[in-house]
Amino acid sequence: MPVLSGGCLCGALRYEARSPPLRVTLCHCRFCQRVTGSSHLVEPLFDRDDLRVTSGQPATYRHRSEGSGKPVDLHFCATCGTMLFMTFERFPGLCGVSAGTLDDPACIEVRPDNAKQVFVASARPDAVLLPGLNTFAGPAIDEAGRPHLPLVHDAPHIVGRRRS
Ligand SMILES: [Zn+2]
Ligand SMILES: [Zn+2]
Repeated sequence: MPVLSGGCLCGALRYEARSPPLRVTLCHCRFCQRVTGSSHLVEPLFDRDDLRVTSGQPATYRHRSEGSGKPVDLHFCATCGTMLFMTFERFPGLCGVSAGTLDDPACIEVRPDNAKQVFVASARPDAVLLPGLNTFAGPAIDEAGRPHLPLVHDAPHIVGRRRS
């Protein structure tokens, strides 16, 4: 039994997940800003084997990550352009879903024990960072996979304009 489902704007593509996400990344990097056309990507990460496309065939676009140099594949609807999910050469077991494509986006909870905020150095000045979450200026791990030290805000934090 699927635990959640989603699809694109025109309805041609549908997917289901049989398990809840492993964790959630709120990403403010420029790549995610362009992909979403918005301030940041809310990205529940699923075990790739738990997610399956049940209707239609996604088109793909391969992008080389500026950070790691490794390819990221965007899976989107060729008719309406909605980006449903991404897969990563660097993390082959994971699938990152665009939370806005879920039938019930509210089913994805963002909590200190399952979510983090990354690349906040490129967040919009009007972005509000959530308190309690591990928060990183750039990626959460370095090229070798070692964790960076997080910052944790104790109240909602408006990014503001950086002094130059
Ligand atoms: Zn579509
Ligand atoms: Zn990103």
